[in-house]
Amino acid sequence: MKVMKFGGTSVGKPERMHQVKDLVTASDEPTIVVLSALSGTTNALVSIGEALAAADRILAKERIDALHAHYLDFYPQLLETEKARKKAEAIIKEHFEFLNIILKISFNEAINRDILAQGELLSTKLFYTLLEELEIPAVFLVALDFMSIDENSEPELGKISEKLKAILAQHPGEKLFITQGYICKNHRNEVDNLKRGGSDYTASLIAAAINASVCEIWTDIDGMHNNDPRIVDKTRPIAELSFDEAAELAYFGAKILHPASIWPAQQYNVPVRLLNTMDPQAHGTLIKADVETKGVKAIAAKDGITAIKIKSSRMLLAYGFLRRVFEIFEKYKTPIDMITTSEVAVSVTIDDTSHLKAIIQELETLGSVEVDQNQTIICIVGNMVSETRGAIKSVMDSLVDFPIRMVSYGGSRHNVSLLLDTKYKKEALQSLNEGVFQWD
Ligand code: ASP
Ligand code: MG
Repeated sequence: MKVMKFGGTSVGKPERMHQVKDLVTASDEPTIVVLSALSGTTNALVSIGEALAAADRILAKERIDALHAHYLDFYPQLLETEKARKKAEAIIKEHFEFLNIILKISFNEAINRDILAQGELLSTKLFYTLLEELEIPAVFLVALDFMSIDENSEPELGKISEKLKAILAQHPGEKLFITQGYICKNHRNEVDNLKRGGSDYTASLIAAAINASVCEIWTDIDGMHNNDPRIVDKTRPIAELSFDEAAELAYFGAKILHPASIWPAQQYNVPVRLLNTMDPQAHGTLIKADVETKGVKAIAAKDGITAIKIKSSRMLLAYGFLRRVFEIFEKYKTPIDMITTSEVAVSVTIDDTSHLKAIIQELETLGSVEVDQNQTIICIVGNMVSETRGAIKSVMDSLVDFPIRMVSYGGSRHNVSLLLDTKYKKEALQSLNEGVFQWD
């Protein structure tokens, strides 16, 4: 059995949904199809929630109506028969009635998550209606019946697997299953989600849960590129990545794949394939366990980084200093991305600054603290050590013109991370692109 996940742009237009239908019916292998909401929908739902949180019902109503109009325009282009159109009308009516009822009741976080769940429910129901219209046999699965997270918002893979297998066992002989990405139940049995972009995570969790042959992630680009194609000219898709390389790239800015979606596939050794709905024949990127890598493979950049330097003469020849520093970050549940140390100072980077003030206050009890905002981490992934001696040299040579705030080398054999001011990012990425990849 395989998993095929389609992102928002792949289902965002009626004709694209028809293409998705062709893709999911192309092979004979039993398939679980995971869909995102139509592009723009989750953003709209977020903005409806924001208007309600600000107690601006008029604005919320305007936004609901605008989204409603989009769906009323969408379904007649998707479906042809009177019967299917009637069904779609009823689906859309049900979900927008729900949103309009929410306008009248008092708003809270749980209701907000209910609002956010509407997008994937709508997209999958409309897609399922298309399959029905075309008499393509399929089973509609409600992700809320099997996807769950615990009190730390971590997916409960064991439970997910058990429940999903039981559900699938009720449909022997069926080949096509349709379900929602992103949405789940939490430990209070409320509707919740796997955070923005979480449909990839759903797909990978499902793939792990059923030990799928492959987890295909279909987007609108031909795989993961060696550098950010939105910023740099002349990038190319990477044919193969190891799970570790892909995880680094996804975390450090390669927007194509949700960073958390690597571990379930890696743990259960399910290959992940990144494919392009607009060019289904393209090879895309294959992510799997054993991949031979020579030299630099790819570069990704992550903005919005804050660097914090803690300098203390007490660090000199002392032990326990780093523990005290890390404990402060732990207390505020703030993950650290990069670390570099000297004998008298340590620099770390964070991207979540919600507790920055409190963290700085506590760090000041350990030494003097300096903070630099608007920094970018550039993550260079490949085989950086041993047999490829030139790799680090070409990286440094490409960056001679840029002031580099931190360098982290040797944390793993396949990564070098650098920190610089975001204003240098574009030029630095371009220069690295020209300097480190040896192509024909
Ligand atoms: N619809 C959700 C979002 O836009 C989840 C996803 O598309 O992966 O974040
Ligand atoms: Mg996505």
